[in-house]
Amino acid sequence: MASNKSLLLLPGDGIGPEVMGEVYRVIDWFDRRRAVGFDVKEGLVGGASYDKYGTPVADEIVDQAMQSDAVLFGAVGGPKWDNLDFSVKPERGLLRLRKDMDLFANLRPAIVFDGLIDTSSLKPELVRGLDIMILRELTGGIYFGEPRGVEEISEGERRGINTEVYTTSEVERVGRVAFELAKKRKGFVHSVEKANVMESGQMWREDMQALRDREFPEIPIHHMYADNAAMQLVRQPKQFDVLVTTNLFGDILSDIAAMLTGSLGMLPSASLGAADATGRRLALYEPVHGSAPDIAGQGKANPIAMLLSFAMALRYSFDLSEDANLIEAGVAKTLDAGLRTDDIMQNGMAGVSTRGMGDALLQELDKLAA
Ligand code: NAD
Repeated sequence: MASNKSLLLLPGDGIGPEVMGEVYRVIDWFDRRRAVGFDVKEGLVGGASYDKYGTPVADEIVDQAMQSDAVLFGAVGGPKWDNLDFSVKPERGLLRLRKDMDLFANLRPAIVFDGLIDTSSLKPELVRGLDIMILRELTGGIYFGEPRGVEEISEGERRGINTEVYTTSEVERVGRVAFELAKKRKGFVHSVEKANVMESGQMWREDMQALRDREFPEIPIHHMYADNAAMQLVRQPKQFDVLVTTNLFGDILSDIAAMLTGSLGMLPSASLGAADATGRRLALYEPVHGSAPDIAGQGKANPIAMLLSFAMALRYSFDLSEDANLIEAGVAKTLDAGLRTDDIMQNGMAGVSTRGMGDALLQELDKLAA
């Protein structure tokens, strides 16, 4: 059906096109069964784009991404392109999109489905029902701060430098996303830094507290040092709701949180830009996993991370929480029915292909929507 909800699909390389194939089928299902239609465009990115255009992302695709309500990104990279110059490596395509779209807020939910509770590295009682959101600042901090580099200071002696830099507006814009997310969830925020040893961390803490007091007085905020947060995530992960932190600490803490949930094939993510006057944000949704060249083209990829990324797009770009819930409930039921791709296989369960997992989800969606 006609619609003004625009989606740009960038399947990429390796298993990207395979997992994106299942998203197409779910988009079609929403169109038919829920009368939720999208204007869907598709483009090349990564190695696939390099092969055709000599660049990992063409200007035209970047323009389309900026015009779209949401971008769904598969994965890029693979051995075929490993020896390319750094400037045209497939991964540069993703980095350029993130940079040009100014996607400063990276959302990584860590959710444990009952059916997969045994794949977590923690005891079942610690992770049963786990649903937390790690929010990482993505465009500032030590990965971008100046000065940076390696300099020779004397014969045989070098100095390597990276600089942690944040401004108040950078802290506040990611803070606002955290408080807004908390409002729609359990309703509290942990802000994580190292205020005890870093001046920039002290400022982060003060600015987060001031923002909360000024704009979100109803949302409790807890401040925590990053080393303690790492420990608490594996000790008692359910104490968190939204955990907001810097680029560097978020890189590490989001991977810890990911492993609480089991497999890479299950993990979605969203990267959001600033809201304009109408509340619209540029947004890119992608699975956490890469292009998995070892299993590409074999129908073995788990499409759930990609499908859950689409569910995040429904929730955060289109305000269609009910429809996002449908996909998440469908995934839970598919897992409860004992269907597993190789990466999440357990004793006594039934093996399915990428397509088989998609089929099962569509059947569950039919039942849920009946
Ligand atoms: P990877 O995530 O592609 O794979 C790691 C392991 O997990 C592999 O054994 C793979 O088979 C498995 N795996 C990953 N996703 C899976 C899924 N959906 N279903 C089943 N199994 C899955 O990471 P890697 O092997 O380190 O990197 C491979 C390529 O992907 C490299 O070129 C790397 O640069 C690229 N990469 C891209 C992204 C991205 O596009 N965002 C992210 C990470 C890595």
